[in-house]
Amino acid sequence: SDEFKMVLGALELYDKTVAHSMTRFEDIFSVPSYLELNPTMVTQILEMGYTRIPIYEGDPKNVVSLLFVKDLALLDPQENLKVMNIANLYNHEVRRVLIDMPLRTMLEEFKRGEYHMALVEKLVEQEDRDPVYELCGLITLEDIIEEIIQCEIIDE
Ligand code: ADP
Repeated sequence: SDEFKMVLGALELYDKTVAHSMTRFEDIFSVPSYLELNPTMVTQILEMGYTRIPIYEGDPKNVVSLLFVKDLALLDPQENLKVMNIANLYNHEVRRVLIDMPLRTMLEEFKRGEYHMALVEKLVEQEDRDPVYELCGLITLEDIIEEIIQCEIIDE
């Protein structure tokens, strides 16, 4: 039954880590900080259908801020502002978690309600330097809910 599947899904949160449910780096839709928000660009961003979009500088792994699609509501597309102008205005905090964080812990974090998306990072060993954190995905509350109810949520 569906209830049985949900209980199993919830129990499995104890064994699984963020790695299991995240959207992988290759599939992240992000935008460069210098991107000009002209009408065409705004349309393209809206058409992607995401609520939160990482903003990177130089390398897509170097995420520096977040664009919330709702930030674009008051934008005058004729002004041709850059993504970073908007990002600096709203200054949404970029939350980061490690790829081996248990899903249960991630869910507890999201339930506190301060944020509903986190960038997922892993620690990469270096030859002669300190290890560095590398972006490898992103995770949202919806990814964990899908894990619990064990099916893909079809967004309208
Ligand atoms: P949205 O409201 O943007 O659809 P959700 O939190 O409902 O975001 O998540 C839906 C799915 O989309 C999840 O699998 C999540 O990991 C993924 N997702 C969210 N934002 C992005 C993004 N910017 N790029 C790629 N995938 C994303």
